[in-house]
Amino acid sequence: AKQIGRNGFALFSSELREKAEQRILLLKDMRFALAQNQFEMHFQPIVSMHTRQITKAEALIRWQHPNKGMISPDQFIPLAEETQLIHQLGEFAFDQAVEVLQKTRSLNSQLQLSINVSPIQFSAKHTTLLAWQNQLTKHQLTPDMLVLEITEGLMMQGEGRSQKRLTKLIQQGFAIALDDFGTGYSSLAYLKQMDTEFIKIDKRFVDGIEINEDDLVLCETMILMAHQLGLKVIAEGIETATQHELLKQAGCDFGQGYFYSKPLPKEAFISYLEHGNA
Ligand code: C2E
Ligand code: CA
Ligand code: CA
Ligand code: CA
Repeated sequence: AKQIGRNGFALFSSELREKAEQRILLLKDMRFALAQNQFEMHFQPIVSMHTRQITKAEALIRWQHPNKGMISPDQFIPLAEETQLIHQLGEFAFDQAVEVLQKTRSLNSQLQLSINVSPIQFSAKHTTLLAWQNQLTKHQLTPDMLVLEITEGLMMQGEGRSQKRLTKLIQQGFAIALDDFGTGYSSLAYLKQMDTEFIKIDKRFVDGIEINEDDLVLCETMILMAHQLGLKVIAEGIETATQHELLKQAGCDFGQGYFYSKPLPKEAFISYLEHGNA
C-alpha cells in the first residue's frame, strides 16, 4: 500500500521519475525494434454490407516484442508521435500497403487499402507524404487505391500547413476517411469542404446497437447525414450477425469487425483473398 504523509511529495515525484524512465526505455526499445524489423502490418478485411465481398482492408501496425510479446499500437503510437519515430512507422505502413497492393492486383483489382495517418505526419517540416504519389506511380499503382484514415482534429486545424497538404493529397487522388467519427468535435461542413469520401463509425456506437435503441438511432442518423453529403459509411467493430443486419438495414455501406475477420498477418491476408471467405 502507498504511504501518504510527510513523504507524499517525494513518493509522487519518484512515481513520476519511474514513468519517465519507462518512457525512455520504451523509446529505446522502439528504435531498436525498427532496426530489428520487429514491427509488422496486419490487414483487416472491410466488406461491402450487401454482398459481403472484401472491397477494402485496413492496415494496422503490430509490434512483436521478443520478450514482451505483442504490444498494442495504443501503447506505442502516442509515444512515437512525441518523437520523430512516427514518420518511420508511417513510412513502414505505407511501404507495406504498397507491397500488398502489388501482390493482390491480380486477385482483386478493386481492392482499396487504408492506412492510418497521424496528424504529426501532416504537420512536420520534412514530411514524406507528398512523395507518396511518385512512389505509387513507380509501382504502377494509383493514389485512389489508398484510403488515408485521419481523425477529426486534423480537419479542424483551419488554414494551416496541414490543411494545405491534405488538400494536395486529395487533389492527387488519395481517398480520405474520417476515423472515429462522432467521438470528437465533428463538423459536417468540414467533411463536405475537404472532399472526404468515407466516414468510419466508431466501435463505441456499434457496440450498443443490439440492446440500446439510442445507439441504433445515432448510427442511423450518422448514416443518413453522411449519405445526404454524398459520403460512404464504414462501420467498425462489428462483432455479431445482429449488428451486421441492423447496420445493413440502416443503409451502412461497408463493415469491418471480428464478425467478418480479425486483422490478419500480411501473408494470411493475401491467401484469404486467394481462397475467398471460408
Ligand atoms: P483504429 O484506427 O480505430 O483501428 C480500429 C481498431 O479496432 C484496431 O485496433 C482493430 O484491431 C480494432 N477492431 C476492429 N474490429 C474489431 C472488433 O470487431 N472488435 C474489437 N474488439 N476490436 C476491433 P488496433 O489494431 O489495436 O489499433 C488501435 C489504434 O492504433 C487504431 O485505432 C489506430 O488509431 C492506431 N493505429 C494502428 N495502426 C496504426 C498505424 O499504422 N499508424 C497510426 N498512426 N496509428 C495506428
Ligand atoms: Ca483507423
Ligand atoms: Ca476507428
Ligand atoms: Ca480508435
